[in-house]
Amino acid sequence: MTIPTETLPRGGAMPRLGFGTYKIAPSEAKEAVLAALEAGYRHIDTAQMYGNEAEVGAAIAESGVPRSEIFLTTKLNNPNHEPADVRASFAASLEALGTDYVDLFLIHWPLPTLYGGNVALPWPAMCELYEAGQAREIGLSNFLAEHIDAILEVGGVAPAVNQIEAHPYFRNDELRAASRERGLITQAWSPLGRGAVLEEPVIGDIAHDRNATPAQVVLAWHIQRGDTVFPKSVTPERITENLGIFDVQLKSEDIAAIDQLDRGPQGRQGSDPATMDRL
Ligand code: NAD
Repeated sequence: MTIPTETLPRGGAMPRLGFGTYKIAPSEAKEAVLAALEAGYRHIDTAQMYGNEAEVGAAIAESGVPRSEIFLTTKLNNPNHEPADVRASFAASLEALGTDYVDLFLIHWPLPTLYGGNVALPWPAMCELYEAGQAREIGLSNFLAEHIDAILEVGGVAPAVNQIEAHPYFRNDELRAASRERGLITQAWSPLGRGAVLEEPVIGDIAHDRNATPAQVVLAWHIQRGDTVFPKSVTPERITENLGIFDVQLKSEDIAAIDQLDRGPQGRQGSDPATMDRL
């Protein structure tokens, strides 16, 4: 199976469908990532915060899939934004993952209420990791437009992506557009709205008409919008099901009907980046 890729600013190829690992307990993570790699996923999204980097690394090692064929993302944990903490935190992630580089390293949250509002504090150290080749690409997660601007003002390596919450209940179109205008590719997190949106009758009707499942319809909606996604599941059947989205062709009326589910910020399933300060 071939998963389409997105070309990153410095030429790297990022599969547009990956496997998410948030809230996969360490006891289940190795099996789940092994199942994903076996099914054909070649893009894994983890984070130091998820507490499962070691199991993700173990699965990659055990899978027999060459490291060079896997696009691996991890994220700087809160609140490690001081330069020395960025370096130490990243080194700990590499150690846990059992690799000497990641394909993408993101600042997990901007933490605008900490560090005197200096959301760009970690960026020069992130750029050093890029220059050293240990992070083949660097980027942002949960950055609002003004936070991205603060990074661009610091300069250095331009951030490749902004990984933000987006799904039919919270399309987040303004921030997607703001990210695109600033040259960042959108990765949509919680693409299935953590499962809730799959119960919507309109999604069920479209799934019936297009001979697909509700999850495939929602993931195809993201792909047709141009975003990259990494749904999470620990169930092998669903892991395989979520791969089968590239032959689902939604019609413009399907897209419009799904767009109608948007509840704006009320539809958020996760934290608001403007106030998120959890350490
Ligand atoms: P998701 O939208 O991927 O939903 C996951 C839930 O959907 C699962 O628990 C499962 O119950 C259900 N599901 C999955 N496949 C299904 C199927 N085929 N049929 C029916 N139900 C199905 O939620 P998520 O895990 O929050 O987001 C995906 C990934 O995004 C995460 O694992 C993580 O890698 C990333 N993420 C990043 C951030 C961030 O701050 N950067 C925040 C949240 C998530």
